[in-house]
Amino acid sequence: MEQTIEQKKTIHDVLAKRPLIIAGPCSAETEEQIIETATRLAATGKVDVMRAGIWKPRTRPGSFEGIGAKGLPWLQSAKKITNIPWAVEVASSKQVEDALTFGVDVLWIGARTTVNPFSVQDVADALRGVDIPVLIKNPINPDLELWLGAVERVAKAGIKNIGLIHRGFSSYGNTEYRNAPMWHLAIEMKRRYPEMMMINDPSHICGNRQMLQDVAQKAIDLDFDGLIIESHIDPDKAWSDAKQQITPERLNELLSNILWRKEDVASEEFHAAIEKMRQQINHLDDELMQILGQRMKVADKIGQYKKDNNITILQTNRWNSILERAFAKGEKLGLSKEFITKYFDAIHMESINHQNKVMNS
Ligand code: PEP
Ligand code: MN
Repeated sequence: MEQTIEQKKTIHDVLAKRPLIIAGPCSAETEEQIIETATRLAATGKVDVMRAGIWKPRTRPGSFEGIGAKGLPWLQSAKKITNIPWAVEVASSKQVEDALTFGVDVLWIGARTTVNPFSVQDVADALRGVDIPVLIKNPINPDLELWLGAVERVAKAGIKNIGLIHRGFSSYGNTEYRNAPMWHLAIEMKRRYPEMMMINDPSHICGNRQMLQDVAQKAIDLDFDGLIIESHIDPDKAWSDAKQQITPERLNELLSNILWRKEDVASEEFHAAIEKMRQQINHLDDELMQILGQRMKVADKIGQYKKDNNITILQTNRWNSILERAFAKGEKLGLSKEFITKYFDAIHMESINHQNKVMNS
């Protein structure tokens, strides 16, 4: 007799979907809010995991600090209705235990926890022997070591399914973002852990609704594995992060507007064309390096000349005029001021090092 065995989809199967979409309110507020959010998110047909903060690490006391463990059964009920697994943020072993008691599917470690090895270790200790995916947000400050350390602590506790969430970095002074994306740090983590999924959190990067679409698109263009986006049934009235949340319907539109790109395409024609362009890039890079080598030889000569005439290496006026000239030229060539600045800073440092060597020889 033929038997059909129904394979149950595990949470690991759910998280393996690309792009992975996690959405839900910044905070769980009331049971009605959670159930309605879940129902409206489910109606989009695009959400794989529902998120909600139960314990909220607030920067300053007095703001809403989360509904606490009493919100956990609400999320459990929401899952019964929608069949969508759910995720909460945990910052201590007690919170891990509470969440596990209510059958939580995915845990995440927040940015304010990743910075603190004591807290990460406390969370990790409660995870020993548990088979649950854990997503680790980047630390608030742009410190790759802290992010790596948190991954290592959780991995050491025996967690096999670890994912990363890029939520941007706090930086001093005003920027257009709530948390500066510093994409290069996320890309470096991807390079170090190519097998680990990397999700982007446009909500906490932007801090507003207007920029969400662009940041989400950028993440997809950079081959991120998915997005975690805050969604609230009535964003303006949200108890936390009101400015950055969007309704489930708006989320649906945002996701529909994204141009989903594939990292790789099978077509031979495509590969041949790309290969040709890569060769061109290699060739141009070689030329750039030749020219940089020549430039440093001239710097050596100048160093010798300065040494003979007892002149300082750093001459600020000269450097400013080099930069001004480069900005003007760069603009015509489509090179941003930001790039020109970084590029010339690097060249300048190398040039100074060369001259230093000559002067001290
Ligand atoms: C959150 O996801 O609501 C949150 C508190 O985020 P973060 O840890 O990135 O600040
Ligand atoms: Mn939030």
